[in-house]
Amino acid sequence: MKNIYGITKEELEEYFLSIGEGKFKATQVFEWLYKKRVTSFSEMTNVGKKVMEQLTLDFSFEPLHLLTKTEDIDVSKYLFELEDKNRIEAVLMNHDYGNSLCISTQVGCNMGCHFCESGRLKKVRNLNAGEMVRQILAVEESQKVRISHIVLMGIGEPFDNYEEVIRFIDIVNTPKGLDIGSRHITVSTSGIVPKIKEFALYPKQVNLAISLHAPNNEIRNQIMDINKAYPIEKLMEAVRFYLENSNRRVTFEYILLKGVNDSLACAKELSSLVRGMNCYINLIPYNETSHIEYKKSDKNTILAFYDELKKNGTSVTIRREFGSKVSAACGQLRASYKEE
Ligand code: SAH
Ligand code: SF4
Repeated sequence: MKNIYGITKEELEEYFLSIGEGKFKATQVFEWLYKKRVTSFSEMTNVGKKVMEQLTLDFSFEPLHLLTKTEDIDVSKYLFELEDKNRIEAVLMNHDYGNSLCISTQVGCNMGCHFCESGRLKKVRNLNAGEMVRQILAVEESQKVRISHIVLMGIGEPFDNYEEVIRFIDIVNTPKGLDIGSRHITVSTSGIVPKIKEFALYPKQVNLAISLHAPNNEIRNQIMDINKAYPIEKLMEAVRFYLENSNRRVTFEYILLKGVNDSLACAKELSSLVRGMNCYINLIPYNETSHIEYKKSDKNTILAFYDELKKNGTSVTIRREFGSKVSAACGQLRASYKEE
């Protein structure tokens, strides 16, 4: 049985037409789910008794099961258990512009980036849209907050689960639903070239972030297996296609790993690589994890890298460090639970 939170408003309209009801009922159900936040079909008092009963037969309603919550200043981390006992996590960050939730899109990840906990544990399965939507609802419910921004940067590679990710965006973007603006949603990819091209033609103004992490193939091959399938030239060609077609700006994420990709020569090469593109670089201090040998770059190295990019005319920001105390980097919480 499909969970009701994984259904788009359009699909729900078709469903109502198919059972001989008016499609406006879909709007009513969306309001019950996402505005009034009821927890059963029997509370949807304006849809009619017959419809309530039919919905109960056709859809399930379970929320996500919250296993643990860990809190630090400005960041809380959630570990959820799914119906099949798999575990995923979400991270809530309080910014001055609002609350942003980092959600998972898969159980594990097959891209095999050498610095990443999620990759170390391999993909078990894709999440469906309903499981992504319910991460938002569960956090809002637990924390009593409104989430204004969503980043798809938790466990998993969103473009390895493209269809459900697009369905998720559709659901949370629905005006009578959660109504999270597309400009407040960011999808992050390790660089699956065909999907970047497909996403370039996607009409909603969703932000795209590319996990670049190296200025050349030699270094990128060492830290990201996906670079062997889609090397930097192919990746950049796809990003150019995206920029031309979407009229949007791209973010390149760049984790600074001590002695690997943090030299001034790397910064110069990175500037040349992105010159002329409508983009900016987001430098990410690496979150060290006990299972992986990479170390984070020193503060001074990070600042020097930043200055070198600026000097070469590249737009750059340094990501504020969130939650190193609560193992906030992608996949760390789930990984530590798996070891226990
Ligand atoms: N799979 C997608 C999205 C999830 S990972 C992607 O790779 O883009 C989200 C971001 O977290 C990526 O940029 C990833 O490289 C980064 N990341 C992974 N492990 C990290 C760590 N230990 N410290 C800091 N960033 C990390
Ligand atoms: Fe997967 Fe992203 Fe981690 Fe790479 S960084 S292993 S793509 S989750």
